[in-house]
Amino acid sequence: MIYCVEDESTIRDLMVYTLKASGFDARGFESASDFWPAMKEQEPALIILDVMLPDEDGLTILKALRSSPVTVDIPVIMATAKNSEYDKVIGLDSGADDYLSKPFGMMEMVSRIKAVLRRATPKQAEVLACGGISMDKSRHTVTVYGAPVSLTLKEYELLKLFMENPDRVFTREVLLSEIWGNAFIGETRTVDVHIGTLRTKLAQAGNLIETVRGVGYRMGLKK
Ligand code: CA
Repeated sequence: MIYCVEDESTIRDLMVYTLKASGFDARGFESASDFWPAMKEQEPALIILDVMLPDEDGLTILKALRSSPVTVDIPVIMATAKNSEYDKVIGLDSGADDYLSKPFGMMEMVSRIKAVLRRATPKQAEVLACGGISMDKSRHTVTVYGAPVSLTLKEYELLKLFMENPDRVFTREVLLSEIWGNAFIGETRTVDVHIGTLRTKLAQAGNLIETVRGVGYRMGLKK
């Protein structure tokens, strides 16, 4: 839900219309006195605040939002007709996440909103680490002792399975069905080939993927 506080009805309607067409829920408010009761009904994901409003101005609203623990983290984009650096700085200093200078295009508004929402909800860094190998699952990257390693999708998935289950022994059949799907059952040499290239790419950390004779493979716990 995006709240748009804007006293000019044509702009407000266009903003709400564009946001809904872009897949957001959106509500428009003419003034602070409309806006505040709605804040009690539902907490929006983001607020676009016009600076010049008939009652309370946008910066005062912003300060009030930032002073309450309930609303302090709600991203706010200020919309200002006063296109001077001074106003921008005031807006950013009071805790706005971004600003839009009027007149702004609707597509610019949507892309700013998306950018602010992306920053506001950063993906949890999910990092697995084992004996010099580090895997950032949110970024899909792997490093060995800090050096980036380029893996194919299957190599990456194999390594992820091992790193998520350290010391567990996987048979070739299980690895095939987990990584390649059941269609490949029987082609166990595929696993050996990929383990081979994965070990090579992991360089000095490659020996962490141990062969369990007669069974399969595991990620050893030795550091
Ligand atoms: Ca206005």
